Amino acid sequence: MTGLPPAPDRVIALSTGVLDHLMPMHLWFDDAGRVVQTGPTLAKMLARGDLAGVPVADLIEIRRPARARTAADLVALAGQRLSLTLRSAPDLPLRGTIAVWPGQAGAILDISLGLSFAGAVAAFDLTLADFSPCDQTVELMYLYEANASTAALSRHLSERLEAARAAAETQALTDALSGLANRRAMDLEIERRLADLSEDFALLHIDLDLFKQVNDTMGHAAGDHVITHVGAVLRAETRASDMAARVGGDEFLLLLSGPVDRDGLARLGARLIARLEEPILFEGKPCLISASIGAVSSAGYPRRPDIDGLLADTDLALYTAKRTGRGRVVLHGDDTPPPRGRRASDPTARAP
Ligand code: GH3
Ligand code: MG
Repeated sequence: MTGLPPAPDRVIALSTGVLDHLMPMHLWFDDAGRVVQTGPTLAKMLARGDLAGVPVADLIEIRRPARARTAADLVALAGQRLSLTLRSAPDLPLRGTIAVWPGQAGAILDISLGLSFAGAVAAFDLTLADFSPCDQTVELMYLYEANASTAALSRHLSERLEAARAAAETQALTDALSGLANRRAMDLEIERRLADLSEDFALLHIDLDLFKQVNDTMGHAAGDHVITHVGAVLRAETRASDMAARVGGDEFLLLLSGPVDRDGLARLGARLIARLEEPILFEGKPCLISASIGAVSSAGYPRRPDIDGLLADTDLALYTAKRTGRGRVVLHGDDTPPPRGRRASDPTARAP
């Protein structure tokens, strides 16, 4: 294919309005290297009042292929691809090129944002109106915004997914009525404590006494209210390092961290029972319950038992507490349980 011969350089007159439209980031400088005029977007980016007459070197630093301070330096770079920065934004690398305009004093430097478009758009608050409609930056901005909003959407979705996963996990380990841990969570914690030989712990198995009577005489909702109340009492009576769980209808497990001697366990059990024996108001009427407790301490074993063995021992102690009159604490291995609590020894006092 034969090409047309290059057209002779013809001088045309362009209004500054046309220049601003086609090259909104241009800078026309005179033979002294001073600004004659700038396009509106560059003026915005240079962030100075009147630019006319200001030396180009005070506004722009040409970095490659060679530094340029004077008009002659600049004109010598005409036609090359330049790397530059604005003094107003020295961290934003920009592109540019210089063209000498036959018949016109000085030359024109045209600037483009290059890969800095996202930073420049944010730093100078640029909008589509600041670019020539044919500038590729416009397309890049569309792509960038689409990409940013997709990334934001995906971040939002994964945050929601993570929150849902955490909520499901909490739900799977929580008893909804009492707000305490559930059997599964407690089993996991007991296994963990049994495996950690560096610290002893105690386990209390609590079963409410004559709880059915609350359901039967005051209704199931009253029974639910009592369970919620027991949950609050157990939470209030335990430290952050302990764990309380509801493991059955009116059954609870309390895991206490650290070595607890037998007297300490008996005292804690008695205090719990005393608190649970305080009247629990439901719709203005008192619900009266007590509790039986079987307790074990890991320190009481020459070798750590497995979880089934440990729970069987608390069961046995609890069974002894129930069998010998309720409203009392029985420590695993104790043949003679301590005296009964006030209310359990007087079943008639429980009637609502
Ligand atoms: P004991 O002194 O021998 O422990 O007898 P109790 O009356 O406390 O009754 P028991 O422990 O044998 O049975 C617990 C009852 O708790 C059985 C069931 O009807 C009731 N229950 C179980 N789950 C719930 C619950 O979520 N809400 C209510 N309101 N009652 C429940
Ligand atoms: Mg019970």
